[in-house]
Amino acid sequence: MELSFWEKDTFLSNIDVIIVGSGIVGLNAALYLREQSPLLKIVVVERGPLPSGASTKNAGFACFGSMSELLDDVALNGEDAMLALVEKRWKGLLQLREKLGDSHIDFQQLGGHEVFGNDDAASYSNCAEQLDKYNLALKDVIGDPEVFRLSDNLIKKQGLREFNHLILNRFEGQIHTGKMMERLFQLAQSQNITFLNGIKISSFEEAANTVQIHTDNGWVLKARKALVCTNGFTGQLFPELDVIPARNQVLISTPIQGLKMKGSFHYNKGYVYFRNVYDRILLGGGRNLFLREETTDAFGLTDDIQAFLEDFLKTHLMPENSNCAIDMRWSGILGIGDKKSPIITRYSDHIYTAVRLGGMGVAIGILVGREGAELLYENM
Ligand SMILES: Cc1cc2nc3c(=O)[nH]c(=O)nc-3n(C[C@H](O)[C@H](O)[C@H](O)COP(=O)(O)OP(=O)(O)OC[C@H]3O[C@@H](n4cnc5c(N)ncnc54)[C@H](O)[C@@H]3O)c2cc1C
Repeated sequence: MELSFWEKDTFLSNIDVIIVGSGIVGLNAALYLREQSPLLKIVVVERGPLPSGASTKNAGFACFGSMSELLDDVALNGEDAMLALVEKRWKGLLQLREKLGDSHIDFQQLGGHEVFGNDDAASYSNCAEQLDKYNLALKDVIGDPEVFRLSDNLIKKQGLREFNHLILNRFEGQIHTGKMMERLFQLAQSQNITFLNGIKISSFEEAANTVQIHTDNGWVLKARKALVCTNGFTGQLFPELDVIPARNQVLISTPIQGLKMKGSFHYNKGYVYFRNVYDRILLGGGRNLFLREETTDAFGLTDDIQAFLEDFLKTHLMPENSNCAIDMRWSGILGIGDKKSPIITRYSDHIYTAVRLGGMGVAIGILVGREGAELLYENM
């Protein structure tokens, strides 16, 4: 379909910044740019009718690291790097809550619980041994001397079965992911940010003072700068960047009368995660069991993972004699890589990236969006 003069002269002209992707990073980047200048014409281009990646599909954990995850980070990059990462996530969560308001995103600090079964006895011993040391190390970051607590008593209290140990992170919380994204959209719309949905960017071309952006419907958009916030789909545009797509599948139960479980839970180094959503159980993960199939940027459900999740639900989570059923299933796409840090770069004269969020986008999305936008704005 050809564009009209009017369309071209309004929606598609004099664009200062095009942001590709309307996930948590793209929206926060747009809001940051608006704070810098009321005059910038900011256009967010999104391929889906709704954001179509991870930000509206995730589990809504407002987390900054379970004990075993932090120990892995120390083994990989050293203690200072781990503490810097935790600080970033913690500050990101505080900023997100301040910007959006706890009531708008249903934030609840119900705790993050790491559970251990027969298979990870060694991991538990290691975590339990180091707990005091890391509570001390995190004291200044979180502002409390007891972030982690050995809490085996909570296994029964939370209605869980067939786990041997539980370590509580008292400062983790959970949000309503849909409400968080809806609130970000409301703010962006009130800030005169333009949205073009249902348009996929297919390639970029640098010109003298602009970047020309080709879309899959044959348009060529021109902007002074572009910020790419495409996370797990970045490889489709820039295959040379180390962003590997990782699909995650999730299910949610029907409401369960008298559900005891409250809070968010990690198992097997975070590869399996579950929480209550009101009186339902949300459960996701298992990607590590089928790595080849799940290294993809295609949405979809597989029998193998769904069978694993259903079995896990019945064995560990579903209250005995409950006749709850599975209400919905979906998938989302993460962006991961060799390193845990995001790629926030000036890719070329007019193109910038803020991608590779990993599994903690709720905590760091606001900071990554801002940092990408800041870098771009400095060079405008
Ligand atoms: C199932 C699941 C559970 C998770 N659970 C949690 C959790 O509990 N806590 C947590 O902190 N994190 C969690 N995460 C991770 C978190 O959701 C992500 O880190 C975060 O949402 C990434 O945000 P983003 O804006 O970078 O990417 P996305 O939300 O993926 O946004 C990228 C956007 O770019 C668009 N796009 C891509 N290519 C193009 C193109 N060529 N043209 C136009 N648009 C394009 C996509 O449609 C998408 O909307 C989870 C992720 C998944 C998948």
